[in-house]
Amino acid sequence: MNKTLGIIGGGQLGKMIALSAKAMGFIVATLDPDPDCPAKGVSDIFVESSFDNPLKLSSFCQKCDFVTYEFENIPYRLIEGLEKKFNIPQGHKPLYYSQNRLVEKNAALNLGIKTAKFLAIKSYEELISKYQEIGLPAVLKTIEGGYDGHGQVVLRNETDLENGKKLLENQECILEEFLVFEKELSIISARSTKGETAFFPVSENVHKDNILFTSTVPANISKEIEQEAKKIASKVLDGLSLIGTLAIEFFLKDGTLYFNEMAPRPHNSGHYTIEGCETSQFEQHVRSVTGMTLGNTKLIQPTVMINLLGDDVKLLDKLSQTKAFKDIKIHLYGKKSIRHKRKMGHLTFINYNLEESLKIYKENNHE
Ligand code: AMP
Repeated sequence: MNKTLGIIGGGQLGKMIALSAKAMGFIVATLDPDPDCPAKGVSDIFVESSFDNPLKLSSFCQKCDFVTYEFENIPYRLIEGLEKKFNIPQGHKPLYYSQNRLVEKNAALNLGIKTAKFLAIKSYEELISKYQEIGLPAVLKTIEGGYDGHGQVVLRNETDLENGKKLLENQECILEEFLVFEKELSIISARSTKGETAFFPVSENVHKDNILFTSTVPANISKEIEQEAKKIASKVLDGLSLIGTLAIEFFLKDGTLYFNEMAPRPHNSGHYTIEGCETSQFEQHVRSVTGMTLGNTKLIQPTVMINLLGDDVKLLDKLSQTKAFKDIKIHLYGKKSIRHKRKMGHLTFINYNLEESLKIYKENNHE
């Protein structure tokens, strides 16, 4: 009772972790560089700081009984130092594995998990001399800091190789085989400080311009693929002894799952769990890092999640007056300004299929 949970990062994920933690009786402290961040309004304590300020991070951790993080780009070495003095149950390891695509993909391969073929590329000259080992089309991705399609280019033919120059000027990259996949899938799982694991139902995801647009659950996949995704998540959690929530994104091609990437935190494709499952991914995260028994992950009802990106958020005025809205839930993150493609919130459609959900979404959107 009255324990303080500290969350490094105050974006929408931090906000939704905070809301779950508060419902469970925690005092919530949040650290973020942005004084207008979504989580600030729902936190009991707010510390304004960059994520790489050791003094501020240290004094933040001192105020907390447990510390967690909502995103993977906090320098892992900083957390490695802090975890010796403070209670950061996840520690630096999940950050270490997920903030570098090369480390992440090699870890997956070492666990016997299939990935698209890839190669480390340090310079444009190396790209030119080695791209044929992967073949074209291929995807060139920066090994660090990429998200929502930032930091990657698709190289469809030899003329496109030139487009890789800019990425390689600033950073080492990986060159990946371009997979013509049937579906993109993801699984949210968790491992507690006691070593207990739990897996949510697999979600089927559609991206628009590399940003997640919809997640549908249950995914239209066989029981075997659903089981295989759980097996892979279990291998990663146990094999790397990770604690906390873990999201893994996959490509499905010819009946095989290819590991794409992982995130050591609740994930946009797991937002459906708030209404869809007995336990939400945010509550599960809190349970996992504070040493509680994990919650039941059973799907209560089919759900479709649609992200509200940028101006899409304006559809709410119209949508909220429709009859269909009785089975739609709104989540707005409280971001102060609308920017193009910015994740402003999401909608959860209960017991609608994807086609019906998109129809309602489009009928009410400004397009
Ligand atoms: P990522 O940042 O790796 O999640 O990539 C963003 C999106 O780009 C993915 O969700 C896919 O839609 C697409 N993508 C990434 N890597 C590949 C690949 N190797 N083959 C085909 N599509 C890819």
